[in-house]
Amino acid sequence: MKDIRYLKGVGPKRAGILAKIGISRIDDLFFYFPRKWEDRKLIKTRIPPGFAFLEPSVVFRGKVVSIKDVYTSTNLRIFRAVLAAGDAEIEALWYKRHNPRYDVFAGIRKLVAPGAEIWITGRPDDPLFNTKISVEEFYSCADTEAQALHINRIVPVYPITEGISSKFMRKAISEAIAERGEAVPEILPMSLAAGRGLMTRQQALTAIHFPESYFELLEARKRFIYEELFLMCVAWAIKRKQTKRIRKGYSYEIRKNLLTPFKENLKFEFTLSQKRAINRIFSDMQAPSPMARLLEGEVGSGKTVVAMCALLLAVENGYQGAFMAPTEILAEQHFITFEKFLKNMNVKFALLTSRIRSEERINIIEKVSKGGIDILIGTHAVIQDEVEFRNLRMIVIDEQHRFGVRQRAALRQKGEQADLLIMTATPIPRTLFLALYGDLDLSVLNEMPPGRTPVKTIMAEEEYAFAQVLKEVSGGRQAYAVYPVIEEGDLKGLKSVKKEFERLKKIFKGFKLDMIHGQMPGKEKKRIMEDFANRKTDILVSTSVIEVGIDVPNATVMVVNNAEQFGLASLHQLRGRVGRGNIESKCFLVADLKTPEARQRIEVICSISSGFELSEKDIYMRGAGDILGMRQHGDMELKIADIFADASVLRLAIEDRNAILKTDPRLLKPEHSELRKKLFELYSEKWNIIDLS
Ligand code: ADP
Ligand code: MG
Repeated sequence: MKDIRYLKGVGPKRAGILAKIGISRIDDLFFYFPRKWEDRKLIKTRIPPGFAFLEPSVVFRGKVVSIKDVYTSTNLRIFRAVLAAGDAEIEALWYKRHNPRYDVFAGIRKLVAPGAEIWITGRPDDPLFNTKISVEEFYSCADTEAQALHINRIVPVYPITEGISSKFMRKAISEAIAERGEAVPEILPMSLAAGRGLMTRQQALTAIHFPESYFELLEARKRFIYEELFLMCVAWAIKRKQTKRIRKGYSYEIRKNLLTPFKENLKFEFTLSQKRAINRIFSDMQAPSPMARLLEGEVGSGKTVVAMCALLLAVENGYQGAFMAPTEILAEQHFITFEKFLKNMNVKFALLTSRIRSEERINIIEKVSKGGIDILIGTHAVIQDEVEFRNLRMIVIDEQHRFGVRQRAALRQKGEQADLLIMTATPIPRTLFLALYGDLDLSVLNEMPPGRTPVKTIMAEEEYAFAQVLKEVSGGRQAYAVYPVIEEGDLKGLKSVKKEFERLKKIFKGFKLDMIHGQMPGKEKKRIMEDFANRKTDILVSTSVIEVGIDVPNATVMVVNNAEQFGLASLHQLRGRVGRGNIESKCFLVADLKTPEARQRIEVICSISSGFELSEKDIYMRGAGDILGMRQHGDMELKIADIFADASVLRLAIEDRNAILKTDPRLLKPEHSELRKKLFELYSEKWNIIDLS
């Protein structure tokens, strides 16, 4: 395919810059999608709803009446031109930093001279009147080519990089389309594209960069959003098939010499869903290919003991296991659980956190490398960075849905073909699971151990909620008070941790209050959480940092303030911090229900206690992105689609993928050859996907 250097207007220098943003061939330009679009039509209709990606922009065509250099007391220089068209008159302003060596406006002066007819576009400095415009781009009216590309139309705005402007990109892309647009292959099978009513790839290509109308833009976006999600879904399926083909080269035998005493130590029966999960895990472990399973279960559903069974099976067979928690406090809590449930058993396990220093640390690492420790408990960091295992076969990762395919692959390097169990309490909607964790199998703990009552979630006034808190703390229980922001003014009108902490100290006089938020150093946070866990504190005032925190069974009440600010996923995680013991717990939501959506959200969370039921609600998806950690996920380098906003498209893509792979699992049919090519081009390196043919 043709090198970008050979495109008109692109020299070696620009080619170098383009290469840095992943554009080395002419065809790469096509898929450098705009970040947004500007409506630069001279006569505009109102932009209809559903066009968040389209912005109106001020455009003016007129004759230069006068020009003037304005000097400011600072280094700033302003060039001002008055333009007139008919009865309308505006001031066009250019701002530049002064340079004593040359005239910074020289280029502008050449075109913007009295009498000249020009186009300008930019932002109004006086939005009410639109008479003072900060110019972003300007062109001579004689320049018809510029008009066709940059003015009086819907114009693409690209993500910019040093040395590359949107203006340049527009030109380069339009050259590229003229030169090679016709050669761009359709990659979706005809029947599929037609069935979903999608624009052809060639049409969409022109339309996404240079749409003739709002609706053409909409259709083009739809086409590429679908294409992107579809390719990703197919890639997942192939990745999964690949994992299934790996042979781990060792096997497990269920000996029960550890599992039986462990069961006796527990003093409770497994729930039905725990049994089911354990059975699935054991058969995965005995299968020839490595396990890759996600265990999803509400907070308190008993995931830890399930994971312990898996680890013990590995140890029974003479292998090592690792148990990784997201924070040190959680790792410490797990260690205590292991001490309790593995009492009097011949299993050697150790905790490795940053608190364990020097000699002991060296000792543990040494033992792990020699096989003297069966199970190592710690945070991801510890296990990933320093430790070499002798024969690590079972890796458990707790509370980690933010664990992308790349991290999984990196981990695999460590434990070679180890079995992997990832656990999360965050309910993930079925569609998302399929889209994001296509290479994992899923087990769900959908029931709670007996004797648990679900947390009651109640909408309340602050006064009432605080009265309940007072009742609980007076009875020796503990409480959480959650606020959306750390500091007043972080977001207007919202209550802040810092300010409310002071107020609450007065309201709850005689009790011990503490404060925790994300801007505190890690050590400080740790101490505060520990004090709370050890009952040194009665009320913990916090931001949502306590979301994935620790187990404090004595905490029985939570008040979430400005609850309307939190998404469903967050609210559900937050309330899971209480109700961890046997005492009935309550979560009060103090909310300002200004929007219908906020009202709906609060109603839903109050009436549904099951996270899985919750996750299937459409409003759960909105705002779930942050909590599910998609931004950090690393797999989601989507250029145009948004898996949350475009969830409905995702559903269709999964459906279509399944249908296609059913008839042609390796994409060997001729009508799938372009699809196949594109797929490997996009994903083979990124996800280490190999060609299966
Ligand atoms: P999570 O799924 O949130 O990690 P845990 O594994 O911490 O939940 O379990 C919560 C509590 O329930 C623990 O104290 C655990 O010992 C207990 N537990 C787990 N399974 C059962 C069961 N089948 N019956 C009774 N208690 C159980
Ligand atoms: Mg847990």
